[in-house]
Amino acid sequence: MSRTKLKEIEEFRGTFTGIFERMGSKSGWKGSTETTVLLIDIQDENGIIITEHLWFNYTKGFRELGTLTVGDSIQFNARVKKYYKGYQGYSEEPWNRETDYKLSHPTKITNLTHPEKRIVPWEEKAKKCPICGKPLAESNILGKIDFYCRKCKKTFD
Ligand SMILES: [Zn+2]
Repeated sequence: MSRTKLKEIEEFRGTFTGIFERMGSKSGWKGSTETTVLLIDIQDENGIIITEHLWFNYTKGFRELGTLTVGDSIQFNARVKKYYKGYQGYSEEPWNRETDYKLSHPTKITNLTHPEKRIVPWEEKAKKCPICGKPLAESNILGKIDFYCRKCKKTFD
């Protein structure tokens, strides 16, 4: 219903905002679980709600925001992408396909409500192990970022 409004701006790349609702997960490669982010009330630059909710992969851009709080207003740039809902294959009549739209490749993700929670990107931080001095690996579990030294086998925050 509300998704039809996305159709009008298909292939458009612009700035959107959404309200953080909760974290989630989906099945990833080889049985792994990928963390996802649910934003609701997605609005375009004019404040028009274009869709009620969207799931995003919990990408680096989201992780850099730090811990998200329910109700945080998240701004991002994204591309509007068209896809077919429940598409079965070429045998299906095109006019029977249900078209849906989603925003993809979000970039420049900002937490408008809590910008101070932002984590300095890994590359800029170049955090090193306080014991041996080796660069630390970053891990992220539901928004909690930890750094791990593979040599010392210790976790730091
Ligand atoms: Zn170490």
